[in-house]
Amino acid sequence: MYIGSVRFYKHVIYLGLALTLAGLVLGLYTLAKVLLDEFIMPSAGAAETVPLAAEVEVYLPPPEEAEEEPAEMLPGVIPLYQGVFPELYREPVPLKEQEEKTAYLTFDDGPSARTLEILDILKEHEIKATFFVVTKNCDPAILQRIVEEGHAIGIHSHSHRYKEIYRSVGDFLADFQAAYEVIYEATAVEPAIFRFPGGSVNTYNRGIYQELIAEMLRRGFVYYDWNISTLDTVPGMTPEQIVRQVLSSINGQDTLFILAHDSLDKVNTVKALPEIINTIKARGYVFDKIENSVKPVVFAYPD
Ligand code: ZN
Repeated sequence: MYIGSVRFYKHVIYLGLALTLAGLVLGLYTLAKVLLDEFIMPSAGAAETVPLAAEVEVYLPPPEEAEEEPAEMLPGVIPLYQGVFPELYREPVPLKEQEEKTAYLTFDDGPSARTLEILDILKEHEIKATFFVVTKNCDPAILQRIVEEGHAIGIHSHSHRYKEIYRSVGDFLADFQAAYEVIYEATAVEPAIFRFPGGSVNTYNRGIYQELIAEMLRRGFVYYDWNISTLDTVPGMTPEQIVRQVLSSINGQDTLFILAHDSLDKVNTVKALPEIINTIKARGYVFDKIENSVKPVVFAYPD
């Protein structure tokens, strides 16, 4: 058989036909397989989705779990803090109703460079006031003078860092304990009254205030909010504006809890004090200091 002979071409044609036939058979086989998978045996594919659907259902929380969770936050159920700070308790005393119209001047954030000026004004007017102090880096000699001159001392905070003390009830207690110790070591006073930084309900303690208040009351400490603010933290308040702000907020209330601040920059608060004291006295109020028997004014819980 020579290349180019008739037999050679016959074999080439046979080979071509055989390859074409093989290709056709392979093509038909592939087509048949595709058809079989896609249309004739669809259950083979669907079977795979069944376990997937079952897995998704596993992650759905059982309905009874959602109902159990709030029960842990019921007021009065406070197992977490009973074991910590075992000394941090005060014996509660019965609250007394005021017989006279009474004004309680309160100074937050001291002691400061202004404290001695405030003490001098109080002495001059022969009245007593209440100092809610910040104890970190404070001068113990000023704390002593506050107590020696017959004023009340209460806890405001040790660090006065809202974000830290309101992180949890435990963080608040740790800061409170630190302030308690500084006051006790400086003055031998065991403070029983306090003022929450920012007031009892503020934007920093939104998540914990109910639990926190319940815990502090359980420990026998009494907290005091205010019903009159000097607004002396508002920048640019003049002494005259501070006086007007206080007097216009009295509104016939029998008991006044006046919030003022004792800090280096509150010069105008000090300047406003004599007129505030004289005018309120002239309206028939007596000034007194806060003791834990004084019925407190407290902010309402938000809705
Ligand atoms: Zn403060």
